[in-house]
Parts: sequence; structure tokens; C-alpha cells
Amino acid sequence: MPDDRIQIVHNPAPSDIARTPEEFLRQLGGPSLIIVQGRDPSRCRALSTLLHGNEPSGLKAVHGWLRNGEQPNITLLCFILSVSAALEAPLFSWRQLPGERDLNRCFRPPFEGTPGRIAEQTLALLDQYRPECLIDIHNTSGMSPAFGVVTHEDPAHEALVALFTHRLIVTDIRLGALMEISRSDFPVVTIECGGNKDPVADKVAVEGFWHFLRGDQVLEVPAGGLHMDLYHHPVRLELAPDTRVTFADEPDPAADITVPWHLERYNFGVVEGGTFLLWLGPGARAKMRLRDASGVDVLTRFFEHQGHGLYAAQALKLFMVTDNPLIACSDCLLYAAPETGHSIIDG
Ligand SMILES: [Zn+2]
Repeated sequence: MPDDRIQIVHNPAPSDIARTPEEFLRQLGGPSLIIVQGRDPSRCRALSTLLHGNEPSGLKAVHGWLRNGEQPNITLLCFILSVSAALEAPLFSWRQLPGERDLNRCFRPPFEGTPGRIAEQTLALLDQYRPECLIDIHNTSGMSPAFGVVTHEDPAHEALVALFTHRLIVTDIRLGALMEISRSDFPVVTIECGGNKDPVADKVAVEGFWHFLRGDQVLEVPAGGLHMDLYHHPVRLELAPDTRVTFADEPDPAADITVPWHLERYNFGVVEGGTFLLWLGPGARAKMRLRDASGVDVLTRFFEHQGHGLYAAQALKLFMVTDNPLIACSDCLLYAAPETGHSIIDG
């Protein structure tokens, strides 16, 4: 089957689903939409996962459910998209196939290349089936607790994220991610379940997914309200593609940037002003850009460059700190948001 056509599978029998997630991916063979009819087929919801081939928690949750065979209350569309990247050896280690675009940066024109064509078909299928909402399940590439990301802030988006986690990032950065198609009448949220090798992340995906399947009204804030930790307007630390990044516990003289291994432990913890973050080589500053939503470099507002070190210039929350040099250079090393220290309750 060509790798740029989404195949549609209707109501697979549990006994037809291979025993392991890996064998299941080989059965699918390419980007797929699995549609399971609900007890009430007049309504449907959508889920997507494995947009990044190295982020398997959502796939494992869907696989477990298909093997179990429980019929959902309402029809469920499951998009499983970067199947080839996931299957590229070693299994679940490639975010995208080498040389290809990141699929979760392709949900806006031009829809070029294989990922662009898959993104365009996904959007057409969503238009065709008109689900009530969509959750897009990911993992972080470094260690992290679970969190949600939305481009729209309202109770429906918060209620969807709260099926999985109480941490919520509201971003105004636009990259061509699937969640950016969200509208008030079609909420789309990203769920980051946690690290891609962390069994806790698999559990977050399974439990949230079951809430999503079984809930009658998943877009309504439950009685008693929601208690969410909100982070607004994150910025991204982007590196020039030729940046030499090393992960080590002491500065590497051959590297532009040396990231200490413990940096990922700061994910969602508060980093006080003055905290040491990274070692910088002589040419490093010119290769770094801390991008806000308008594309402006705001590095000096958040970080301080002193000697060979980069320090937090104010109290910050860091998240999506990667431990993968390829992702650090092709996407970003980390996100940061000012620490505001408040959470809100919606009734
Ligand atoms: Zn992802």
C-alpha cells in the first residue's frame, strides 16, 4: 500500500487485531483511520495518535482497546498516522522518517511531500465525518509529567484535557500542528502523556482514553469545576540546524551547547532566577533563538548569558525539554513560560 494514502478500516474484530502494538502496526502497514461504530452512531468523536513515530503511548491504548473489543458509547474515529516512521528500526525511535517533514507541522498549506498529503487527507476526513472533538495523543521525548496543549482557551478545551491531566499550556505559537484547526464548535487538544519510554505515560494514555470513550458529555466541565494549572504564552528555544549539541555532565569543548543530563528533571518544576541551565561554546549565542508567538527573539528576557553558562533570568517553568539532539536542532530544545504561580477553577 502506498505510504501517503490513509486506509480506512471499519469495525475490526478483536480477534483480528495482532497481539502486540508492533505486530498491529505491521498489520496496518501505513497511515490508517480505524472507525468503530458506537451504540449511538449518530454522534462521533475522534482521536489521533502516533503523529510522531517515537511516541507510542496513545497507540498502545488504542491497541489494548481494540483487542478488548468494548463498543464505545458513540462512534470513534482513530487516526494512526506515522506508521512507517514508527516501524523504522529501531522500533518507536524515529519522530519522522529521515529526510521527511514533521507530520505535526504539516496541517496547513502547502500540503507537500508524503506528510503533507497525509495531513491534507486527515483534514478532509475530519470534514467528512464531522466529529464533535478531537484529542491528539503524544509523548514527550524527555522525561516529563503529563500535560495538555491548546490553542483556544475555553471550558470545552479544558474539560477534554482534564480527562488526562490538570496541567494545561495555552499557546499562541502557530507551527502547523493538528490542534491549530480547533474551533469553538470543534475543540481539538494535544495531550502529552509524558516520556515516550515511561510506563506512567502509557497508564495516563489508557486511563484518559477510557474516560474519553465512556463519557457521555466530554466537553462539559463536571459539577464541582476543574482545577487546572495553566501556563500561557510559552516560548521555544530553537537552535540553528548545524548546532553541535551534546548531552553530558560537564561542558564538551567541541560542542556549541552542552545540555546537562539533569535539565529534563526541571520539566514543570519551577526554575528560580539565577539557576544554571546550559553550557555555551563561543559561537552558541548566534545559533540560539527563543521564539515567541510573533517570531521575535526574546532570549534576553528569559535567560542570562554569563561566561560559559546560560542561566534563568527570572522564575520559569520549563517543559518539553528534549534529550534528543536531533529533535533539539530540528524542532526545539525546550519550551519555557514565566512562572505565575496561580491556578484557576472553572465552574
Ligand atoms: Zn509528538
